[in-house]
Amino acid sequence: MTQPINHPIHIVIVGGVAGGASAAARARRLSETARITIFERGEHISFANCGLPYHIAGTISDRGKLLVQTPEAMRRRFGIDVRTQTEVLAIDPAARTVRVRSRVDGAEQSVSYDYLVLSPGAEPVRPPIPGADHPLVRTLRNMADMDAIKAIIDEHRPERAIVVGGGYIGLEMTEALVQRGVSVSLLVRGPQLMGHADPEMTEPLNAELLRHRVDLRLGTSLQQLTPEPQGLRAFLSDGSEIKAGLVILATGVRPEATLAREAGLAIGERGGISVDEAMRTSDPRIFAVGDAVEVIDYVGGQPALIPLAGPANRQGRIAADNIFGRDSRYDRTQGTAICKVFDLAIGMTGQSEKALRRAGRACEKIYVHPASHAGYYPGAHPLSLKLLFDPADGRILGAQAVGADGIDKRIDVLAVAIRAGMTVFDLEELELAYAPPYGSARDPINQAGFAAANVLRGDVSLAHADQLDTLSDQELLLDVRSPAECTGGMIPGSINIPLDQLRDRLEEIPRDRELIVSCQVGLRGYLACRILSQHGFACRNLSGGYKTWLQTRPFTLAGPA
Ligand code: FAD
Repeated sequence: MTQPINHPIHIVIVGGVAGGASAAARARRLSETARITIFERGEHISFANCGLPYHIAGTISDRGKLLVQTPEAMRRRFGIDVRTQTEVLAIDPAARTVRVRSRVDGAEQSVSYDYLVLSPGAEPVRPPIPGADHPLVRTLRNMADMDAIKAIIDEHRPERAIVVGGGYIGLEMTEALVQRGVSVSLLVRGPQLMGHADPEMTEPLNAELLRHRVDLRLGTSLQQLTPEPQGLRAFLSDGSEIKAGLVILATGVRPEATLAREAGLAIGERGGISVDEAMRTSDPRIFAVGDAVEVIDYVGGQPALIPLAGPANRQGRIAADNIFGRDSRYDRTQGTAICKVFDLAIGMTGQSEKALRRAGRACEKIYVHPASHAGYYPGAHPLSLKLLFDPADGRILGAQAVGADGIDKRIDVLAVAIRAGMTVFDLEELELAYAPPYGSARDPINQAGFAAANVLRGDVSLAHADQLDTLSDQELLLDVRSPAECTGGMIPGSINIPLDQLRDRLEEIPRDRELIVSCQVGLRGYLACRILSQHGFACRNLSGGYKTWLQTRPFTLAGPA
């Protein structure tokens, strides 16, 4: 039990951006008498980290717009003592003090607290690449990083930049640099962009990058950098070399847990600060929030590091609530995220198929490729939606979507569905806003629900693209698209009988083989399967059709193999 406090309590907050500023503002709303001090080692508080690439791009031209709150405004409105350029060096939990040092004059002092909130964020991982300590090699985390990158672009006008890492910061920086007229080589060590997503859902991003002349190199890592008169020479794992005037390292982040670790606070198995649902650390007077903490994955239940702005903001508020005796609880993290890649967006919520399989969890999946809104209304774009669900009860486990329009709303609906514990049967019933410019009478969400529920009700069995490489001679691929569509490409080994001729040509189809039925996106294949199964054929529909099959082909510069 913590001792009662008989004086106006003093809350000290380490880090004044997403989680820290939220905790401070909430604390003030709950108490007019508390002393609240923020220590921020940078020059700014409450800046929009997520907007940094867009200022570099020039999309947000006014730098000041990124400063959501200034220290002065925070003092005036919330009566919060904001000490910027002041680093917290150490915590003494027994004495309830922190040791801080001014970055301006080096002065150190000890400051006591009643409650401490740690929101120090995460630090960019810098892989140990020889030559990566060169000033033209940068990471992006804060305003100073942004200013430095922008200054290099403005002053040196590099012809080419190398971006290392294909996560959202790497992709946003790639787009920003292209927008600034810089050619980009994007190096991704693994086989796909956006490592948290399933590979086939990232395939459209590859094409989008190529369309914008990005030199995309999957499966390629940066080995060494050497200085050149005009910049740097990069040596890559495939033996090639690239000259560049700027290198951005976007190879992930790790929690800033050093202060907590040195203070003896419990650290979780993934390296983040351990907290309970109240965001309390192993010391009852110390809370921790944001990118620095380990959370519980909403679907999988395992400890996870999921560094996102929404969770950081909510956790800051919850920590403040609990300091003032309110019983607020943080209920796990779903990993709902979205990233703009030129004219496409990719979004995800819940678990990916690969994460579910890694955890040994049973899952089924469907793909649909509907239009973002009614196809007859101008401006509709195709989107690809993958839904993962529990084959036993239909509970939704995860979703990913990619396309030019309407990705955010579909992912947000599915994020809510996961939170609400909904099943695919609930998705069939959802009544969503519809008029032709915005959606369809059967929204893509409903369509995904129908497709998944059809499987669980036994109306159709599914085949998946990744199973087609190992077909036996007991199986036969039947493509039910039109011959004209088939001239554009077919799954090797398929025979073609268009859907509209199927009833008349049933005698051409062998009855001793299981049919794997495919069409363009899976809908006509489903209709064909309904016909075939009622005529006694064994058949499975290829989920997502030829389009999904193409997305699962290994990516090559020449297009799908
Ligand atoms: P931060 O906001 O990073 O704040 C931590 C602060 O603590 C820093 O300012 C740091 O200087 C300070 N600090 C650390 N140690 C000390 C110390 N010892 N003493 C004093 N101060 C200290 N998330 C999304 O959900 N969507 C997005 O689109 C998105 N885009 C992003 C784009 C970029 C370029 C970046 C960098 C991040 C993006 N994020 C995005 C992630 C999001 O910004 C973070 O999840 C969020 O800011 C985490 O909040 P935080 O309070 O934990 O850490």
